Amino acid sequence: MSKLIVSDLKDLKGKKVLVRVDFNVPIKDGVIGDDNRVKAALPTIKYITDNGGKAILFSHLGRVKTEEDKAKLSLRPVAEHLADLLGKKVTFVPATRGAQLEEAIAEMEDGDVLVVENTRFEDLDGKKESGNDPELGKYWASLGDVFVNDAFGTAHRAHASNVGIASNMDQAAAGFLLEKEIKFLGEAVDTPEHPFVAILGGAKVSDKIGVIEHLLDKADKIIVGGGMTYTFYAAKGIKIGNSLVEEDKIDLAKELLAKAGDKIVLPVDNVCATEFNNDAPTKVFEGDIEDGYMALDIGPKSVELFKDVLKDAKTVVWNGPMGVFEMPNFAKGTLGVGEFLGTLSDATTIVGGGDSTAAVNELGVAEKLTHISTGGGASLEYLEGKTLPGIAAVSNK
Ligand code: ADP
Ligand code: MG
Repeated sequence: MSKLIVSDLKDLKGKKVLVRVDFNVPIKDGVIGDDNRVKAALPTIKYITDNGGKAILFSHLGRVKTEEDKAKLSLRPVAEHLADLLGKKVTFVPATRGAQLEEAIAEMEDGDVLVVENTRFEDLDGKKESGNDPELGKYWASLGDVFVNDAFGTAHRAHASNVGIASNMDQAAAGFLLEKEIKFLGEAVDTPEHPFVAILGGAKVSDKIGVIEHLLDKADKIIVGGGMTYTFYAAKGIKIGNSLVEEDKIDLAKELLAKAGDKIVLPVDNVCATEFNNDAPTKVFEGDIEDGYMALDIGPKSVELFKDVLKDAKTVVWNGPMGVFEMPNFAKGTLGVGEFLGTLSDATTIVGGGDSTAAVNELGVAEKLTHISTGGGASLEYLEGKTLPGIAAVSNK
């Protein structure tokens, strides 16, 4: 069952195309930080305008809780930045409904772009956006002829600006960005080319139980690294010193290990420190970790072991860093694995998760990988095998 894509929509000329984009970018004093999300939406916007459609863009920005939040959470700077990126005029409407918005839409010509104010301004009046208020979704849908969802970052939430609009339209299509996320995090993981290796790391086992369980059936090997390693160590009776552990998940780790047979591959050595500090003295332990030390990264032998498991893989999905990559002295494991993935030219390599994405971007290995997800929470839920409401609301072909 494949989804309707924006490129399947014919005769866009003169149509008012409502587009849910993810313009939730960091803004400080009116200046945009990382603009990757805006850039990622350009192919869909350009496709619509190149084909004579009128692109009416909706996005949320941050969380709007008080009237005062509005000043710093306006989408105006993003609309201005979008105009620069597109090299054309973009109309910004400082309202989420009403005569001003309706008139601005009526004045649009074919190929024009309009940005509606932050959809979450509607949350001040009884959480209408985040609560998917039926009247709001219906109203927004009434402003256009067709709907395109290109916001993967909010696809795991049923909000008025994605699910609400979609359910009030005859046709809802996926944008090119959403199409890519479905292809890699959905299809490539659901029906992977084998050998399929999952790399799971990050801080806690409890955050990743759903992902481990879902991938355990599908993957040929599951590499475990990062903070969750030491709960698995504890389950195996390996000494962990002061390393991160979730006592209440040790039994679960035992069950997973029993169920997985030799599918789960754990680190064989770890870079440990006496305190959670980049400058703390370090020592590498193989197996048992001495009292007074905490593991903050996987060690060099583990990197070699993981490379050996990965070398023939055809599909790799990676969620969760191998160590505390934010501190340069504990980033080597994550970097080593990332760099090696970049050399696997025959494999489809996919990264999901907020910190994992930050890690591959910061460490400069992102360009060599097949797909880096644009959604943190959404990518995790997708990797758990859950149905994401924002994707479910897109029409099937
Ligand atoms: P993602 O956002 O990609 O799903 P997580 O949020 O699960 O990833 O995990 C990322 C965090 O895990 C990072 O902040 C990293 O510092 C932390 N982490 C990784 N390894 C360890 C470790 N050995 N001890 C403590 N924290 C760790
Ligand atoms: Mg995280």
